[in-house]
Amino acid sequence: MPHTLLVAGAAGFIGANFAHHMVALGHQVVSLDKLTYAGNLENLASLTGHDRHRFQEGSINDSALLRDLLHRHRPDHVVNFAAESHVDRSIDGPAAFIDTNIAGLFTLLECVRDYCDALPDSGRAAFRFLQVSTDEVYGSIADGAFTEDSPFRPNSPYAASKAAGDGLVRSYNRTYGVPTLISNCSNNYGPYQFPEKLIPLMISKALAGQPLPVYGDGANERDWLFVGDHCTALEALLRGGEPGETYNVGSGESISNIALVERLCDLLTDIRPPAKGAYRDLIAFVEDRPGHDRRYAIDHSRISGALGWRPDTSLDDGLRLTVEWYLANERWLDNIRTGRYAGERLGHGRNAAG
Ligand code: NAD
Repeated sequence: MPHTLLVAGAAGFIGANFAHHMVALGHQVVSLDKLTYAGNLENLASLTGHDRHRFQEGSINDSALLRDLLHRHRPDHVVNFAAESHVDRSIDGPAAFIDTNIAGLFTLLECVRDYCDALPDSGRAAFRFLQVSTDEVYGSIADGAFTEDSPFRPNSPYAASKAAGDGLVRSYNRTYGVPTLISNCSNNYGPYQFPEKLIPLMISKALAGQPLPVYGDGANERDWLFVGDHCTALEALLRGGEPGETYNVGSGESISNIALVERLCDLLTDIRPPAKGAYRDLIAFVEDRPGHDRRYAIDHSRISGALGWRPDTSLDDGLRLTVEWYLANERWLDNIRTGRYAGERLGHGRNAAG
């Protein structure tokens, strides 16, 4: 049955992929986004004018706007991607992370609570608030994998703000009975990812013949999830997730940062051979970032066992698809590089893998 969804943060990387995914499945999507530097309307361009998609510029900190949107569109589901999401930026300036990831989420939850309270019993039973969170709330793990029962040990202001958000969402379920879901997922990659994050940053710099900065010794290990697989997981949670529960989402494919960057270099060499030199020669180790988590690994057996969800895209296939997408969309990349897209100019020189 088609649903109406309010999707906050829909002009960002994962939110845009999710909006495309849900519209393609026949659902009605109302996209809300503040259009910070990370929000890019070009990510939603192909949905412009679509009769199942609306875009509203605005913030999850704006309760009047949220109440109006909930009242007008009567969504069956609210999915929250809106966040400050870049760990490096949280180290340089944590305030925006507290403002959006905690205070903004609180405002959104208050509006959703009132909206839920006014729904008839059947509407409330079907309603879901889905908070998209991160495995970074668990900190670093030397061996094994994070389960949903792993303790929260956030190590960056970003991770701490997301952990606080998860606590708030849980409390709105336990205290007020709001039908919530939380997904804690690993590092995503794929189309539309802002090129401050590791994979698009490396592709963008390699294409420009610039050094490929890798933190520390490059041995930090991450589980990489193709964004399309994340979208199917979120959709599965909306369909069958247990209200009040949290679910880990990951690919089960971990790799060190340096091995990942080398694979990207080899893929690029294969698809777009460099004009001169070798992409691998551009790799440059740079000073590690403070509080850098050594290893993340995700046990996703809860969502797989309960809902039959599995990641479909191998790391090999996903990386190839991603490199091909960035090569086919160099104009999208250029518009960010030059600041021509709607947000502020890109100013970075470091890598980030969550
Ligand atoms: P992103 O930075 O690409 O997008 C975030 C979007 O939120 C942007 O479009 C931005 O404009 C918008 N936004 C920021 N503040 C807002 C506000 N106050 N009101 C409305 N919109 C606002 O992030 P992403 O990578 O797409 O991540 C989406 C969510 O998934 C985040 O909550 C993040 O914590 C989580 N997550 C991301 C990853 C990953 O690898 N990218 C992994 C795990 C979890």
